[in-house]
Amino acid sequence: MPELPEVEALAEFLRERAVGRAVLGVDVVAFQALKTVDPPVSALGGVTVTGVSRHGKFLDIDCDGVHFITHLARGGWLRWREDLTGAKPVRPGKGPLAVRVRLSPGDDGQAPGFELTEAGTQKRLAVYVVRDPAEVPGIAGLGPDPLAEEFTPEVLKRIVDGNRTQIKGLLRDQKVIAGIGNAYSDEVLHVAKMSPFKIAASLTDEQIAGLHEAIVTTLRDAVGRARGLAAKDLKAEKKSGLRVHGRTGEKCDVCGDTIREVSFADSSLQYCPTCQTGGKPLADRRMSRLLK
Ligand SMILES: [Zn+2]
Repeated sequence: MPELPEVEALAEFLRERAVGRAVLGVDVVAFQALKTVDPPVSALGGVTVTGVSRHGKFLDIDCDGVHFITHLARGGWLRWREDLTGAKPVRPGKGPLAVRVRLSPGDDGQAPGFELTEAGTQKRLAVYVVRDPAEVPGIAGLGPDPLAEEFTPEVLKRIVDGNRTQIKGLLRDQKVIAGIGNAYSDEVLHVAKMSPFKIAASLTDEQIAGLHEAIVTTLRDAVGRARGLAAKDLKAEKKSGLRVHGRTGEKCDVCGDTIREVSFADSSLQYCPTCQTGGKPLADRRMSRLLK
């Protein structure tokens, strides 16, 4: 699943290539992906792309006041196409193609565009065509962006104060902080040397400052690595840049201990016992419930 750094890099990638071009057409292949009806997608036809930005994990393509917004969800991705001239019309079917956006040709005669694809059987990729990004419920409810200047240690302190949830869950709650998902929350907690099960409200001021620093540096570093990469190379870059997430059984780069995994909510999380939990493996709650 693309998180803040990948969506940020995708926005930058699209900005360089799509801004200034007109939308020739939008082909919706997976009808369930389109979540809005007014304005219709046809309203984008002939309109020039004026900007591309990010809201949390949402990608926002501004077509002169009409916004084409997408959330790629778990299995979604964006594929840039240098030339869609002569591309076959797509029929709804079993393939991964969900939406195709065709753009006007440049001086070279090539008409580029991009395609939103979704792998797997769980279709969660979402597209919204709106006049104001705040009309998208997921955007209206977003917490602060961790890379915005306004996201200070004081803001994080207000977030954790009195909050009885586990810090892992809090970090990936989009209503609390925008843009962090399962992968980067594991990474942030490893950098902060903090147990994922720690209760947010129990953090000392020093720990809050350390966590804030870990959030900002982890995301900034990941954006730095992703920046300038082609859309197709971002997935591999994300994977290679992760130090604990998805690395169960491998050695921790920092201390050499073995990275472990424990179930959490609807999936699992990875952590280093020596770096984060005083060397003690976390109990798998799902398992202990079964044993009772
Ligand atoms: Zn370690």
